Amino acid sequence: MSHRVCVRPDVVTTTPWLAPIVWDGTFDQTVMDAIYKQQNITVATTVFALGKYVDFLKDFLETAEKNFFLHYNVHYYVFTDRPDDVPAVTLSPGRKLTVLKTASSDRWQEITLRRMEMIEKLIEEHLIHKAEYIFSLDVDCKFYGPWGAESLGDIVATLHPGYYGESRNKFPYERRPESQAYIRQEEGDYYYGGAVIGGRVDRVLKLTKTCRKQLDVDRENKIEAVWQEESHLNKYFLYNKPSKVLSPEYLWQDFKAKPPNIKVIRFSQVIKNYAQVRPNP
Ligand code: UDP
Ligand code: MN
Repeated sequence: MSHRVCVRPDVVTTTPWLAPIVWDGTFDQTVMDAIYKQQNITVATTVFALGKYVDFLKDFLETAEKNFFLHYNVHYYVFTDRPDDVPAVTLSPGRKLTVLKTASSDRWQEITLRRMEMIEKLIEEHLIHKAEYIFSLDVDCKFYGPWGAESLGDIVATLHPGYYGESRNKFPYERRPESQAYIRQEEGDYYYGGAVIGGRVDRVLKLTKTCRKQLDVDRENKIEAVWQEESHLNKYFLYNKPSKVLSPEYLWQDFKAKPPNIKVIRFSQVIKNYAQVRPNP
């Protein structure tokens, strides 16, 4: 069997701690599937759709069914305060969807902050023996290209599309030492997006538990990190390096023009009217 030579001289494909950065052309899909198919894995996928964000579910789910882990067992867990508004989307064999009724909040910051805690609980109380891998994804997004087993790893982070290739001093880390999310100017590897986190369920449990505790301490001290749970996530990954990093192919933004080094956009945040969809400014 011959192997394709995968070269992407135009992008960085490994981190300084030798974790792969996943770009189109750097992996062989056939080999990836050969590894994971035989393990008959289940990929749990959490998505929060509180308040008007429930309207994003239809496109999210329909495009996921065309692109996300096709021919794998996928179990979506939809957290929402509006279970009746969850659209009926036809799922392919091997795929399931569970709606989890969740209390809403009148502050969007509170909603994103509480994701860590709710994922922690879901894993502890349910997923730990039911799924091998988990992804937590933003709902205000669509899939435009294939996303499969190449994205699997022990603990998986994603390069934020707004900051990849930027120098560290441009990263919007939390800079106030009073916050548990504080990162010093001379520290930090990348700026990771909070919209896509993944990995083995036990490893993501550790991440969500740690971030939730740090969020609790901040709350106690009446400080909210500049980018809420994303700030704490970045702090976590500073000391617990991701074993795999997804390129911005896996977290793009519709309003951004596609540069030449982005060969395929797999998942992208749609353009939304913040004033219209969020419960508060
Ligand atoms: N979210 C929600 N309802 C809200 C605000 C946020 O369900 O009123 C969830 C939703 O899953 C969303 C995620 O929290 O994708 C992150 O918030 P948002 O996408 O608004 O943040 P951004 O990606 O714009 O920074
Ligand atoms: Mn979003």
